[in-house]
Amino acid sequence: MDFMKLQGKKVLIFGVANRKSVAFHIAETLVSLGAEPIFSVLSDEHAAFCAKRFPNADIHLCDLSQESDIETLAEKMNGDSLNGIVHSVAFASFADGAKPFHNTGREEFLQSMDISCYSLIAIARHFTKALTADSSIVTISISTTKMAAQNYGYMAPVKAALDSVVCFLAKSLGGPEGTRVNAVGASLLKTSSSAGIPGYVAPYLFAEKATIRKKGLRTQEVADVAAFLLSPKSSGINAQTVVVDAGMSVNYFDDEIVGATVDAK
Ligand code: NAD
Repeated sequence: MDFMKLQGKKVLIFGVANRKSVAFHIAETLVSLGAEPIFSVLSDEHAAFCAKRFPNADIHLCDLSQESDIETLAEKMNGDSLNGIVHSVAFASFADGAKPFHNTGREEFLQSMDISCYSLIAIARHFTKALTADSSIVTISISTTKMAAQNYGYMAPVKAALDSVVCFLAKSLGGPEGTRVNAVGASLLKTSSSAGIPGYVAPYLFAEKATIRKKGLRTQEVADVAAFLLSPKSSGINAQTVVVDAGMSVNYFDDEIVGATVDAK
């Protein structure tokens, strides 16, 4: 039974790099639901990976920091109608390791804002014509942008801007039969981009303990919510960041964590 009503739906997916990518899990989930992914990736290596895993899919190259690349991609795909777009893309240069937040450089901050946030606006603009009635755009944000994790640095303010962009795009692309725009606000996962965050292992292991269920978030759980947001089954959800964190955000006072931190005997 096609409960999710995604059979035959075309979804353009930005952000597959490898088998750990959130975007890869979303693509696999969509295929399992009968949808047809189209890929836009950053490099030949990523394209080769997609070609191997999804031999029937169209695959394009696009550097989202280049307006002309996005424009060219939209022109190339002119005529293709899209039922959905997935934006699962982020970039932050952690080349200098974790720094005090106030030492964030202008260039690195703006580059991250450009690729991780502005790119969604550019994609929406260039693909407006391709999007069908009642289509859906989904981006991947983070579960909280107000937790000042020192190692994550400026990426959180960039994601806060992305969450706001979701609201404004939902309004400007919306209306009767318009396009819905939502984000999945995911907590800590094991992917290659998270592996590049300085000192990620300890916070990741802590996050496992901080979920209510005491088990880390799985990338598939994020992909499932993304698929739901692409599906007409979520038609009542618009302009939201749907938090997927296995309850971590309400669990600061977990007995085990408090007990391991404070000796109140
Ligand atoms: P990933 O490295 O697999 O995916 C990031 C993608 O961004 C890659 O495919 C990369 O090629 C692409 N990208 C970077 N710069 C680009 C550019 N200029 N043009 C086009 N593409 C570009 O890592 P991921 O964890 O799957 O990340 C996907 C999304 O999930 C990101 O938005 C990330 O912030 C978000 N997220 C990840 C976690 C986590 O713990 N890994 C948690 C919450 C949210």
